[in-house]
Amino acid sequence: MSVEFPQVCLVGKSRSYELSDEAEYEQQRVCYIQSRQTSPIASVQRSEVQPIESTSASAWGAGFQPRDRVETVRNCAALPRDFVDRVVLQVADVLLGMSDGVSCSDWNKGGSLSVREVAGLLEQETLQLLKKECGGLQTLLKNNHQVFRVEGGRVYIRDWRDRKSTRTQSQRTAFAPGALKTRLCWFYSHHPQGCPLLDQNCAFAHGPDDLRPSTRPLKKTKNFVF
Ligand SMILES: [Zn+2]
Repeated sequence: MSVEFPQVCLVGKSRSYELSDEAEYEQQRVCYIQSRQTSPIASVQRSEVQPIESTSASAWGAGFQPRDRVETVRNCAALPRDFVDRVVLQVADVLLGMSDGVSCSDWNKGGSLSVREVAGLLEQETLQLLKKECGGLQTLLKNNHQVFRVEGGRVYIRDWRDRKSTRTQSQRTAFAPGALKTRLCWFYSHHPQGCPLLDQNCAFAHGPDDLRPSTRPLKKTKNFVF
């Protein structure tokens, strides 16, 4: 049986006592914490509650790790576009190369690999950079939603003809009106057989001439206060 303890957070802004009295005040903090632990819920399980050793003054705060002042954005946006494109191309090439036995007339939708197997294809340096700036390989693959479908830890080439494959996308990745044809079609540019959809059926631009300016309302930009 587990007991949930209420979480109490005390934040002090400045010291209201002499530094030399620290030991005494620390003792008071420990007493306070211990007094909270004899609440009715906790007392039921008191025998299982580890007593706080008063000899080790900082025991109750041990292991506390404050968050960084500035939180790092880890959504691949910090990575150079050509780096991301190279990784996408490298992974897609391998997946497309796995389609033995498919007749040449069919559009090659490639094979599938686990995220771990995909990681095995990439250089250590690339993986480390992804982890640092992007939240990892899986995030990069998911962010490149146009090209990949990640399902149950496996990576597939997305087949835009397959309604099921495009329906699994959540509302937030669904096409906003005004976003059509505002980005180039990866398949049109990179797939050996091109895009399986006709120009008019593909949400992405088939070549620069097919590109349209975005009519989406601009994302709210940060308001700067001076
Ligand atoms: Zn297309």
